[in-house]
Amino acid sequence: MMAHGETPLAELVRLVAGELVSEVCSIYVVRPGDVLELAATEGLRADAVGRTRLRVGEGIIGLVAATGETLNLADAQNHPAWVYRAETGEEPYATLLAVPVRRAGRSLGVVAVQNRAPRKYDADEVEVVETVAMLLAEVLAASSGADAAVEDIGATVPRRFTGTSLVGGIALGPVVRHGLAHAPRRLLADDPAHEQARLAKAMETMQRGIDTLISANLPAGEAPREILEAYRLVAADAGWLKKVNDAIRGGLSAEAAVHRVGGELRDRMRRVTDPYIRERLADIEDMVNRLLATLDVGAAPVVSPPGAILLARRLGPAELLDWHARGIAAVVLEEGSPTGHAAILARALGLPTLAGARGVLEVADDDDDALLDSDEGLFVLRPEQEVRQAYQREMEARQDRQARWAAKRDLPSVTADGTPMTLMLNIGLTLELAQLDITGAAGIGLFRTEIAMMARGAIVDVAEQAAVYARVLDAAAGRPVVFRTLDLGGDKMLPGSPPAEEENPAMGWRSLRIGLDRPAVLRRQLRALLLAAAGRPLSVMFPMVATVAEFRAARALLIAEAARVRPAPSKLEIGTMLEIPALMWQLPELLREVDFISLGTNDLMQFVFAADRGTPSLAGRYDFLSPAMLELVGQLQPLAAAAGVAVSVCGEVAGRPLEAMTLAGLGITTLSMPAGGLPQVKEVLGALDLPAFRAVLASIRRTAGGAASLREPIAGWAREHGLPI
Ligand code: PEP
Ligand code: MG
Repeated sequence: MMAHGETPLAELVRLVAGELVSEVCSIYVVRPGDVLELAATEGLRADAVGRTRLRVGEGIIGLVAATGETLNLADAQNHPAWVYRAETGEEPYATLLAVPVRRAGRSLGVVAVQNRAPRKYDADEVEVVETVAMLLAEVLAASSGADAAVEDIGATVPRRFTGTSLVGGIALGPVVRHGLAHAPRRLLADDPAHEQARLAKAMETMQRGIDTLISANLPAGEAPREILEAYRLVAADAGWLKKVNDAIRGGLSAEAAVHRVGGELRDRMRRVTDPYIRERLADIEDMVNRLLATLDVGAAPVVSPPGAILLARRLGPAELLDWHARGIAAVVLEEGSPTGHAAILARALGLPTLAGARGVLEVADDDDDALLDSDEGLFVLRPEQEVRQAYQREMEARQDRQARWAAKRDLPSVTADGTPMTLMLNIGLTLELAQLDITGAAGIGLFRTEIAMMARGAIVDVAEQAAVYARVLDAAAGRPVVFRTLDLGGDKMLPGSPPAEEENPAMGWRSLRIGLDRPAVLRRQLRALLLAAAGRPLSVMFPMVATVAEFRAARALLIAEAARVRPAPSKLEIGTMLEIPALMWQLPELLREVDFISLGTNDLMQFVFAADRGTPSLAGRYDFLSPAMLELVGQLQPLAAAAGVAVSVCGEVAGRPLEAMTLAGLGITTLSMPAGGLPQVKEVLGALDLPAFRAVLASIRRTAGGAASLREPIAGWAREHGLPI
């Protein structure tokens, strides 16, 4: 039906009703002015089509459009949101399944099915309607008017976006948008020839700028595909430049013409469903923005109101640091994944961050009020007064809690039964070092040297690296610090480096593999670390070790460098991360070689479950509190203890209360985590009776019976015992 290009809504409702054996199927479409109109129905009165109208937010249909969430109700008429519209003749129908038609984070309409007999639609039926809604979204978006309708509404009503939480937390504030072309300051011009000349010059300057960018970062002839592709698309668009020139002839300034034609191009591309082409949309925007920046010199730089929530399609690390300096409070990205470097930096900076809020840039205006509840994966543009107040109260409560935790800063980390715990921080930026004193951490269990280099935009020379590492040791003031050598590749690329030509970069040529194949860079880093230690104790850890032989090779490089640097560290400890499962079957040899092991559960989880950590749709699919992961830790810990090798955990799980107590239950007493997690972990461990929990955990594991996750029974026990999880 869709292939015919019409909008056969009447056909569609008949088909769905038949497929689901439901008595009613209706489609409501969002019309200009915040209104949902009954556009087609099978089962309700035909003359209600075009007449029945509900405000977004009104009735169950309006509620579904406003929240963007499916409602499956066995007794719809007793739902608090139910409103009755006599002209539809819908009184006999008890059951209602209403599914929003969503596209780019916005509701374009609602599909509803109804039945007389009270029952809930089953999962298969819900899936059918959701699939229809998905297809319908494309039909509605393509039919003229749908986008315009949504845009009209956009200016006034709340808009909700869901996404993946990259960094938890709440923020309330005005929005500021990154990377958007601002309306040109000068719209009209009376000398078209002059404007055309300006345009030609700007094109040339822009082109040259891009060429320089490419040649500065890449060997000749290897322009990144994206940029080439963007060029090609713009060039192939039947005379994009001609259109700009026509607009100039019509009396527009060069910048106004680029702005308008760029906008049209963007709208057209927005309707393309092919994900590859849609991806290129951002590149086109980049091009248009570059051109505008060249033409509209002197345009006011974007200023950020204090405490703003930054909206961006995606962000590089330097850009994020820039915005952080301007005082933003949170970030909402249309793209981006939990372990991408924007996420790692945002976590380091303590900025609540949400990714995957598609379409948000298009419906937001600068200075719109917004709220981000990243813990719930929710972003609300122009929230209702009551919602805003509720969040305001929650933020105040959190501040109280923070103050309570701060008061515990100097308390020792020890479980209720007196087992000492060592709680350390994961750090990657020198500006995070202040967190050591703020949280009262025991030291730095993981210093991610590649983040410090990413923030500088390059791997700096030995002296500069040594200065960075020395600052870390100075700030630690005698507390232990574990430096991890460069862990680049996969999702952590230095700015400007070409994207890896690999099918599967997480399992590609990354991290220590690069270090061993190109030992000069690794040796320089090791030398910088030894110089920074300047006679103090030094702990170095290698990432992504897959074999004992790789560890030995890396250690040999460190020992060779150590022989040359004076003064030698007073103590040199050399350890490995355990991120690749293969090490589990080399433990007897490995334990003879290493001084310590740190479990990098972020990577370990992705390799154990074969689930890419950077894929948002897999986030949360596999649980660390699973029989498999607990078995792994349970096997490792006693063997390491018997060999006298310290084991710690430095993946994100160490900073979550339930996971941290479970690790303690498995005998892991050193945990290294993001600063945000430390107070709560300390609080929960302080309330934990470890021997009692150990026995319970053993029994939960024994009786798991093939469960994918043991979270519920563990959490149940914690709640029963009043632990603040
Ligand atoms: C890990 O993999 O768990 C880890 C701590 O390292 P990163 O997140 O930097 O890969
Ligand atoms: Mg890792």
